[in-house]
Amino acid sequence: MLAVHDLTTTYGAVTALDGVSLEAPAGQVTAVLGANGAGKTTLLRTVSGLVRAQRGAVSLEGTDITRLPAERMTGLGIAHVPEGRGVIAELTVAENLRLGGLHRRQGSEPERLERVYELFPVLGDRSNALAHVLSGGERQMLVIGRALMARPRVLLLDEPSLGLAPRVVAQIFALLRTLVERDGLTVLLVEQNATSALSIADRGVVLGLGRVVATEPAERLAADEKLRHAYLGF
Ligand code: ATP
Repeated sequence: MLAVHDLTTTYGAVTALDGVSLEAPAGQVTAVLGANGAGKTTLLRTVSGLVRAQRGAVSLEGTDITRLPAERMTGLGIAHVPEGRGVIAELTVAENLRLGGLHRRQGSEPERLERVYELFPVLGDRSNALAHVLSGGERQMLVIGRALMARPRVLLLDEPSLGLAPRVVAQIFALLRTLVERDGLTVLLVEQNATSALSIADRGVVLGLGRVVATEPAERLAADEKLRHAYLGF
């Protein structure tokens, strides 16, 4: 389990996270929801060591990992897929994937590639294509696949649905669920698209202006009209 306790992160005078506590139980999808500026991206960046927490703690299976540098996180089994779908456009799909496995060699590379292609057959079909020809949805699969090459225990995913057609979002989210069921992966999924995220999540955490305003099983959160109107816009 990944646990965050009383996490506070500031950018100069801006307090982006203000005493956030939450848990992402092992083998589950925990969705972190909230409006623009609620602190969702900052939460993932603080957990993965890209920005420094002012206060509070992050632990993985009971071990304190607060303020470890980002490059140590891969070795611990934490993979962060930031928003923006950054790939190396002039490398092929397979070359991009291999980059994801460089720092954590668990199992042979062909075996790890095979598992990614099993999950995302379209990446296998296009393994020799240059990344810049991929569609937005394929790129999103590529960045998730690249993170999986490190065989993580915990996947931190930032806004994978952004800008994608609903059909593609549904496809990617269904694959994520398969992955969780198949490998027992722990997922912390940051999304503005609350409906899609809650459809595959076990639990939901709602952030409002850097604070946790609700933590509920996904189904209950999706049914909570007041909360949805106030914080989730649907
Ligand atoms: P979005 O969906 O727009 O990415 P978010 O919920 O992920 O929103 P954050 O990006 O974490 O929210 O931002 C939280 C707060 O921190 C906002 O007020 C934002 O303006 C501020 N912020 C984020 N990054 C920085 C930065 N590098 N410097 C200064 N302030 C920042």
